Amino acid sequence: MKLFDLNGRVAVITGGNAGIGLGMAKGLAAAGAAIVVAGRRAERNVEAARAIETLGGNAAALEVDVCNEKSCRSLLERTIERFGRVDILVNNAGIAIRKQPETYTLAEWTRVIDTNLTGAFLCAQAAHPHMQRGNGGKIVNIGSMLSIFGASYATPYAASKGAIVAMTKALACAWAKDNIQVNAMLPGWIDTPLTQTARNEVHGLHERILARTPAGRWGEPQDLAGTAVFLASSASDFVSGAAIPVDGGYSAQG
Ligand code: NDP
Repeated sequence: MKLFDLNGRVAVITGGNAGIGLGMAKGLAAAGAAIVVAGRRAERNVEAARAIETLGGNAAALEVDVCNEKSCRSLLERTIERFGRVDILVNNAGIAIRKQPETYTLAEWTRVIDTNLTGAFLCAQAAHPHMQRGNGGKIVNIGSMLSIFGASYATPYAASKGAIVAMTKALACAWAKDNIQVNAMLPGWIDTPLTQTARNEVHGLHERILARTPAGRWGEPQDLAGTAVFLASSASDFVSGAAIPVDGGYSAQG
């Protein structure tokens, strides 16, 4: 269907070399977009780009540290050099440090906020002039169930993910004039390297999630692909500032 067709579009996905980011990258590639896989680990970027190409997609591997402003600017510039345009930015890079709130160091707090929130802002800022010149674009920010709920072991993570929804709304208001739609996706509990460590660190987490999720299972990275394609495509041209849970019903459960 044309509405969801991404042929000719170029998508940058931070944290696209693993987990949810790679799941979304494969979905966007299957819909026709050329993909820039962007993370800190060069070899993982290359492996992910190869995996996308094996599936018939077109992908490039570019290094970025989203905590570094120059690196974010350079990522978007290298994307333009390589593909001539950027239509879609998925701000997916994220980390968690799980502790009780009274035990975080300032450095740990800052690392989480810089990666999950400031990094998304810096990449959006770096993408804006290129999207403006291209007469529009799509920015998809990745939140979390902790954009909505609290958790005793995740204060900076929850702060970053709550703020990403507020930032999404502010950017949606600011850049509507440039035909840039900015939305957030709030993944439920998805089986990735990030949550594998959570399951090891938080006793009983695996069973609690299973019991609460109406779908009766943990999510897989490819579960995020459909909503990512929707928010990256013309099908969502009148959708902006939204935060869409993709969670098997987790957030609907009372
Ligand atoms: P993973 O740990 O599997 O992947 C994280 C990705 O982020 C990696 O590709 C990593 O690449 C990249 N990354 C981390 N720090 C940086 C940095 N400074 N600069 C650039 N890239 C970076 O996590 P998930 O796939 O599980 O999570 C992806 C996103 O989804 C995160 O924002 C997370 O908060 C969110 N999320 C995940 C949920 C889940 O259940 N898994 C639930 C809700 C939200 P590299 O190390 O090479 O830099």
